[in-house]
Amino acid sequence: MTFSDFKLNKQLLNAIEEAGYTTPTPIQKKAIPLVLAGHDIIGIAQTGTGKTAAFALPMLMKIKYAQGTQPRGLILAPTRELVMQIQEEVKKFSIYTDLRSVALYGGPSVRTQGEAISAGIDIVVATPQRFWDIYKQGYIDSRKIQMMVMDEADRMMDMGFMPQIRRILEIVPAKKRQNMLFSATMPAKVLALADEFLKFPERIEISPQATAATTVKQMRYAVPNIKSKINLLAYLLQDKEKFSRVMVFAKTKTTANNIYKFLVRKVDTDVRVIHANKDQNARINAMKDFKAGNIRILVTTDIAARGIDISMVTQVINFDVPHQSEDYVHRIGRTGRAEQLGEAITFFNIAEDPLIKSIEQLIREEIPVLPYPEEVPLEPTPFVEQQEMLRALDMRKQREDPEYKGAFHEKKKYVHKRPKPKAKIKGGGQSNKNRKHNRK
Ligand code: AMP
Repeated sequence: MTFSDFKLNKQLLNAIEEAGYTTPTPIQKKAIPLVLAGHDIIGIAQTGTGKTAAFALPMLMKIKYAQGTQPRGLILAPTRELVMQIQEEVKKFSIYTDLRSVALYGGPSVRTQGEAISAGIDIVVATPQRFWDIYKQGYIDSRKIQMMVMDEADRMMDMGFMPQIRRILEIVPAKKRQNMLFSATMPAKVLALADEFLKFPERIEISPQATAATTVKQMRYAVPNIKSKINLLAYLLQDKEKFSRVMVFAKTKTTANNIYKFLVRKVDTDVRVIHANKDQNARINAMKDFKAGNIRILVTTDIAARGIDISMVTQVINFDVPHQSEDYVHRIGRTGRAEQLGEAITFFNIAEDPLIKSIEQLIREEIPVLPYPEEVPLEPTPFVEQQEMLRALDMRKQREDPEYKGAFHEKKKYVHKRPKPKAKIKGGGQSNKNRKHNRK
């Protein structure tokens, strides 16, 4: 099967050829004819499957040529990197048409972006927040939107974009709108959104839900504390040949920064860090350099790395276990792509052990534990870190069982329940002799 088997016009086919695409990927084979036939789509697919072209090509085919000033296609995606990536793909395919597209994301001023589109636009790719900001300022007329895509719906919800999405759905025409929703995972909340958003959708599933890519070798190390995690990371990264293109994931911006600083100082200067606080140019440049193979190690948080198409990563190292099990699947999806064998290495402490259990349930397989290498120093756990871990464990147990009071409350509970020493027992009580006897 080739792209010319789809009912796409010459302009698109030329652009596809120029992009070097010869054979449609499985998701493209399934989605393109369905979208061209006017169906709503719910797609379960990760980045790397070719899903962008799967929705962009039929959208370009249907929107066809520039018309008026108001947008007719809207694509929502969670992060600016993904928005930019999608719009680049849209631009690439619309090169032989007069279609106008724009990428809207936080960073540049609302006014600059607003003015750029008021001259006339056909396709808008945007983060929900920025789209809403620009709409609110009166730069967008949404009444002509006839095709709408939500990409990485699970992540948009995890990032708290639901209120903006709701507002956007209220201001786009409900009738005759064709919709597509893509998500790497399909938890109940995404299904609920799909129910609201889609009309009799056709379901396309590319990889079974939340199944880790078979080309990824997964493993984990039990590591008691942050300092030991750092030691183990430094130890692993010494092997420059094996660890030639590595993504290190951290839970927070602070941890990502600390890891970065340590690596630069002690391990290798061939490293960059990206997270939401980094300015946009720094993030884009770091991504480009890493993609081009100019940087060996990229330290990142989940949000910054979401949906970014980076292939041929040799190892994904989870410095922290992600709180959302789905994030684990996303993270390790960066490696083992396109038939390349990759490794996913996870460090976990006692507080993170339950998170591993949830992940294993989700991916329906066990992640083998490797012995902590003897030559790597094990550091003692500082008191504060110990307390934090216990607190995290408690919080998790409490979430699972609201009755659970937790180790931090046990003392209090005990004191509270202690019977008053002088309480008199009705009926005169027992004699001392009897009491002793009973105790035996
Ligand atoms: P996506 O899942 O849309 O992020 O796409 C992943 C990567 O595959 C991107 O770099 C695309 O340019 C590339 N790609 C998508 N479809 C095809 C195709 N049919 N042939 C070759 N490369 C493709």
